[in-house]
Amino acid sequence: MPLHLYDTYSRSLRPFESIEEGKAGLYACGPTVYDYAHLGNLRTYLFVDGLRRTLEFNGWQVRHVMNITDVGHLTSDGDSGDDKIEARSARSGKSAWDLAAEFTRAFEDDLCQLNILSPTVCCRATDHIAEQIAFISDLEAKGYTYRTQDGIYFDTTRQDSYGRLARLKRDGLQAGKRVELGEKRDICDFALWKFSGVPGQRQMEWDSPWGLGFPGWHIECSAMGEKHLGRYFDIHCGGEDHVAVHHSNEIAQTEARHGTRLANFWLHGAFLKTQDAKMSKSSGDFLRLQSLLDQGIDPLAYRYLCLGAHYRSSLNFSGQALDAAASGLARMRASVHGLGDVAGEVDRAWLARFTEQINEDLNFPRALAVAWEMLKSGLPDAVKKATIARFDAALGLDLMRWQPAALVVPAQVSAWLAQRETAREERRWHDADALRARVREAGYEIDDTPQGPQARAS
Ligand code: AMP
Ligand code: ZN
Repeated sequence: MPLHLYDTYSRSLRPFESIEEGKAGLYACGPTVYDYAHLGNLRTYLFVDGLRRTLEFNGWQVRHVMNITDVGHLTSDGDSGDDKIEARSARSGKSAWDLAAEFTRAFEDDLCQLNILSPTVCCRATDHIAEQIAFISDLEAKGYTYRTQDGIYFDTTRQDSYGRLARLKRDGLQAGKRVELGEKRDICDFALWKFSGVPGQRQMEWDSPWGLGFPGWHIECSAMGEKHLGRYFDIHCGGEDHVAVHHSNEIAQTEARHGTRLANFWLHGAFLKTQDAKMSKSSGDFLRLQSLLDQGIDPLAYRYLCLGAHYRSSLNFSGQALDAAASGLARMRASVHGLGDVAGEVDRAWLARFTEQINEDLNFPRALAVAWEMLKSGLPDAVKKATIARFDAALGLDLMRWQPAALVVPAQVSAWLAQRETAREERRWHDADALRARVREAGYEIDDTPQGPQARAS
């Protein structure tokens, strides 16, 4: 079955065809680096990784772009409040630049621990100020902007199509939210550029045709998407909370500038919840990946947990669910390891069954069930091994490298082994014996095999 994806824009499952043959452009909205990512945020990046792996599984060469929001995301989606990073800087005493760099590094570590493939391009908003200013200038020249005391705003009333992604009903909004309007002409209008206020009070500020200030949150994604993927690309994705505001505004900007659609497909991942409420930084009820590591839980157990729920269904996080996922992963690892060191061919029929599931809007829960069925089937071990290795390219559980703890030879022991080899080649028998003794003391025996010496726990 060819790949089908659920497109939020058309609210339908559509067959995926790329704009350029064999290549797929994918833009995923990245984190706002004013704090550590929580498990909810990471569920969204696991969903994006599953999407990317599925595209690659089907043979597309993916150009995956992810932004890092290091400026301009305010504490309120209504364009009021503080810049989240400047506010954190004021509280912590660290510079906004240092904080953004520190949380970006921590986020990249989290992705690595979850075996999430690195984006082809990872781009920072603060590195694309010129592109954002050029974008806003163009919108201004086309008559889509107006000025208030605190910034330059996008006039959403100029677009009949505004809010189509979210099926927005504008009339109801106007009546209900008049109080929040301030100087904005319409409740849906949003900031493109915000003025600094008192010069020097902000750490992140730039000169612009409109004065000293900083870009609004939405413009960065329109500007960076266009720079790194072109005006119109294949897939844009993010968490479900982006539908109503952030992605609606990205679409508005790009359509106003170019009169073209921004992306062919829009995909949104559902929330991770705790006790039926969205896991969020503001509620304080959230867990980081590090919290799991501190409890000795393998980060890939969290990946296994997320694979068990469809990306468009919300997932309730609990300690019991994570424990069950950890034991599921442990059993799968042991089962794959138990197949031994054998080489075979991928089984075509099982591959077709697995592919059918991931191609039906990334149905990883069912794909995981197919993987289990295959492992428990009567296929020869060598075929199972080759087939699960192929499946794991999509699952991302890093199954092939896993070894039972007793078989993992510490790096120091491997180093002694290599030194012993050199000593033997150089006929320094005394040194070679001393190195063997050290390996023994560390609890390992050396087997001299046709592939060279290997250590095994004694
Ligand atoms: P932020 O760092 O706040 O910009 O969010 C980064 C990504 O995480 C966005 O795509 C959000 O939609 C997503 N996100 C935020 N909270 C959750 C949650 N509880 N579950 C899943 N995704 C979330
Ligand atoms: Zn974005």
